Amino acid sequence: MVVVGGDAAGMSAASQARRRRDADDLEIVAFERGGHTSYSACGLPYYAGDVVKDWRPLVARTPAQFAERDIDARTRHEVEAIDLRSRRVRDLAAGRSSEEPWDVLVVATGAEPLRPPIPGIDLPGVHGLSVLQDGIDLREAVDAGPRRAVVVGGGDIGLEAAEALVNRGVPTALVEAGPQVMGRIDPDMGALVSQAVRDVGVELHTEEKVEAIEGDGGVRAVRTAARTLEADLVVLGLGTRPAVGLARAAGMTLGPSGAIAVNPRMRTPHEGVWAAGDCVEARHVVSGLPVNYHLGTIANKQGRVCGINIGGGYATFPGVAGTAVSKICDVEVARTGLSEAELRPLGLEWESATVDSTTRAGYFPGAAPIRTKVLAERRSGRLLGAQIVGREGAAKRIDVFATAIWNGMAVDEMVNLDLSYAPPFSPVWDPVLIAVRKLSEQVERTLRDCL
Ligand SMILES: Cc1cc2nc3c(=O)[nH]c(=O)nc-3n(C[C@H](O)[C@H](O)[C@H](O)COP(=O)(O)OP(=O)(O)OC[C@H]3O[C@@H](n4cnc5c(N)ncnc54)[C@H](O)[C@@H]3O)c2cc1C
Repeated sequence: MVVVGGDAAGMSAASQARRRRDADDLEIVAFERGGHTSYSACGLPYYAGDVVKDWRPLVARTPAQFAERDIDARTRHEVEAIDLRSRRVRDLAAGRSSEEPWDVLVVATGAEPLRPPIPGIDLPGVHGLSVLQDGIDLREAVDAGPRRAVVVGGGDIGLEAAEALVNRGVPTALVEAGPQVMGRIDPDMGALVSQAVRDVGVELHTEEKVEAIEGDGGVRAVRTAARTLEADLVVLGLGTRPAVGLARAAGMTLGPSGAIAVNPRMRTPHEGVWAAGDCVEARHVVSGLPVNYHLGTIANKQGRVCGINIGGGYATFPGVAGTAVSKICDVEVARTGLSEAELRPLGLEWESATVDSTTRAGYFPGAAPIRTKVLAERRSGRLLGAQIVGREGAAKRIDVFATAIWNGMAVDEMVNLDLSYAPPFSPVWDPVLIAVRKLSEQVERTLRDCL
């Protein structure tokens, strides 16, 4: 078994396969072009921000630990080509190419950050935040005490980078091309997050595109159509795309989302070839359409499924709801299912309700605001999506909505869900229940009007 990509999906697949087949039966070699295996990219902003003091605990398992389990994880080995016919990969290490044969191949090359051809994007001082080394480099740059930073892009990674910089006392501006930060949630909810960004002292510029990064031997400023922002440190958070260059060159089938097509067992249409993680597409449980999300939650599960199947077991990956949480300082943001922008092209009709509540009983110390938005199909009341913006304790409530979406529940079925309550944790009517109650009343009214 040859694995291309030594992080979440690839090494989960390797570990699961090893649990089911011992080394006499299955030899496992994993190629990772970076210097580390099984690292938590999700922890990188917190390392840069000094919340996590040391990068080493971000590595869940080193090549030496894999070796103890008879998994040969080779770092600084870049797979340059996959040959589906001769069943070999060509890999490059320390300037030398060599070939490795396989009976079973797992492509787990992840996602790659978008780097549009903006003049100056390759200047020293411009950082991405994708692999572990990027986090180590960014941390060093922040430790060196930059005078001003600009974050480009207001998605999850951009916001987490902005939080890190603010926490380290670096004056920071954030430039976002869209009308609000967090473009994956609806603009009315995104506006709350934009306000939170401003409230923590980040100079936020929305509806502005970066035209150039200026400097000479090092970054000096970021230019948009409207202004020039001085900066000696720039962090890019412009989004990611599936890393499918290798798969495409090998002639592997890509799906409509542009990611590698797999069946529910994570097998590609090519004999002996499997794929998992950010580089593959999955079925969205609400729309039924193929999508490509870049989330560690999904990559780990897909890698596990892939490894179980390679190990001789039977497992399937049913799909994704796009559940994700993030935060900017004290403000938590969560989403699951589809947003209004995502629903529009599907031709579905929906109702939405937004409610303001508190994270704890209103009288209880620490009760903080939480806004919950829920979307349901107009006639059936089927829950289609939910978004939450609030303070401590807000975000993980999204998991109730995710579970309901997963099970195809309608909002009226959710109203009497037996959710927990005590004053330090929630009001007696949890914000989840208040939101679905309001929406279910709306759905009922619409139904009555139709009759
Ligand atoms: C800053 C940041 C924060 C994040 N926060 C969260 C979060 O809070 N929650 C969440 O769910 N997700 C989060 N994610 C996303 C999550 O990290 C990814 O979804 C997950 O790592 C995907 O796992 P993967 O194995 O598919 O791909 P990756 O982790 O990208 O691993 C792919 C590996 O393949 C290697 N590779 C690629 N091509 C080759 C080649 N040709 N030869 C050899 N090796 C190759 C790469 O070096 C890489 O190590 C975050 C990501 C980042 C960057």
